[in-house]
Amino acid sequence: MEKIVIDKQKCIGCGFCVHSHPEYLVFDEMGQADPVGKEVESKDKNDLLETIEHCPTEAIRIEDIKEDN
Ligand code: SF4
Repeated sequence: MEKIVIDKQKCIGCGFCVHSHPEYLVFDEMGQADPVGKEVESKDKNDLLETIEHCPTEAIRIEDIKEDN
């Protein structure tokens, strides 16, 4: 399944992705974006890809995560 992944080494906590997609992302205790773990729905994918393109530090991506069962 596809999920959002944040590179915490790169995220500067600008908040753009969190405010654009509050159903997918929240702030962690360090003020960085934190994925809630929700599966990316196909209806949201284009919007998410656009947000990914506009992240100032290229810290966000969608990854195909294999489940073990
Ligand atoms: S848009 Fe990028 S830098 Fe800004 S909070 Fe999201 S992941 Fe972090």
